[in-house]
Amino acid sequence: MSIGFTHTVTERFLRYVVIDTQSDPSSPTCPSTEKQKHLGALLAAELQAMGLRDAHLDPYGYVYATIAANTDKKVPVICFCSHMDTSPDCTGKDVKPQIVKAYRGGDIVLPGDRTQIIRAAEHPALADQIGNDIVTTDGTTLLGADNKAGLAEIMDAAHFLIQHPEIKHGTIKILFTPDEEIGRGVDKADLKKLAADFAYTIDGETAGHIEDETFSADGATITIEGVSTHPGFAKGKMEHAIKIAAAIVDRLPKDTCSPETTEGSQGFLHPIAISGALEKATLGFIVRDFTDQGLRQKEELLESIVRGVMQDYPRSTYRLEIKPQYRNMKQVIDRHPEIVDHAMEAIRRTGLTPVKSSIRGGTDGSRLSFMGLPCPNIFAGEHAFHSRLEWVSRQDMEKAVQTIVHLAMIWEERA
Ligand SMILES: [Zn+2]
Repeated sequence: MSIGFTHTVTERFLRYVVIDTQSDPSSPTCPSTEKQKHLGALLAAELQAMGLRDAHLDPYGYVYATIAANTDKKVPVICFCSHMDTSPDCTGKDVKPQIVKAYRGGDIVLPGDRTQIIRAAEHPALADQIGNDIVTTDGTTLLGADNKAGLAEIMDAAHFLIQHPEIKHGTIKILFTPDEEIGRGVDKADLKKLAADFAYTIDGETAGHIEDETFSADGATITIEGVSTHPGFAKGKMEHAIKIAAAIVDRLPKDTCSPETTEGSQGFLHPIAISGALEKATLGFIVRDFTDQGLRQKEELLESIVRGVMQDYPRSTYRLEIKPQYRNMKQVIDRHPEIVDHAMEAIRRTGLTPVKSSIRGGTDGSRLSFMGLPCPNIFAGEHAFHSRLEWVSRQDMEKAVQTIVHLAMIWEERA
């Protein structure tokens, strides 16, 4: 069946990006910033206006809604999910979106700060956007396509499905989360209330891509107890915790195993914090790999470095603590191959070539997968996110909407 698509995705996107929804890792509340609820309330109201009567914003800043099934078949309940917050790394206040209509190639100079230039050489994905309409900022803020492109795409797909009851689908759930950028996006997600069988986050980069793999992640903390004495009388006695910590950092591999020396399927060991005094110092690390075995190897390497350093400080002690953070969602998603197969077919039906890839990071989906809701990540079209050079094209957003609509149909067709 060929579908005559009409889109409202760009208009929606432009409406959402002007609402500041930056999250704040130092805040203990949920949502971390109250302003995220401004967007949540708007989305819930728009879903209500479409006729989704259960659409609501909950006290934690999550938006839930249901598109009722219009088929007699028994179809698994599918959820589409995006996050409402933007990165704490770059301001999201007073976003002034600009549209480069029918992009003709070359660099894009941003008008509000002409030192901010999206260079074709540094953004090779621009080469695939000739003739497309590209949305950027004015160069003074991030855009928030991560992940407001996903919100707009899910909203437009919902709108389209409701306007076209001839398109058959099972029950479809919508979930919009706060605080994804600070790693707390699913902390208060009520999966019982959501009652979905499978989910898709719409939060990926390049059009046509689907990601079913994320890093597995641990945190490691090393606490060093040195030996303190008065510096005037320390000869042969003092063992300085700061110097021990510095020696550990110095012995980390220089050509491998770090974010700046790895790519693709390689993992890393990455110091993220150091603090201390003479008597006691603490080192924080994140450990990343696609396999559990790779994680273990990196943690063993870290411990062997620490042990090697400690040999020079016989009266000092250390403690190494490993805390699991999240796991590669592929372990869960592979048990249900139809989740990815259907998404690949949906992407194909939009005219794009589907590409399966992995994420060198974590997503809400990796945590949802391990909470019992298998959840790969589909492209939203967002590029150069968390920066003032962020951009997304209208055409890619429209392809994402079409992917969502086709996906809803395919689950029904194949049920
Ligand atoms: Zn995101």
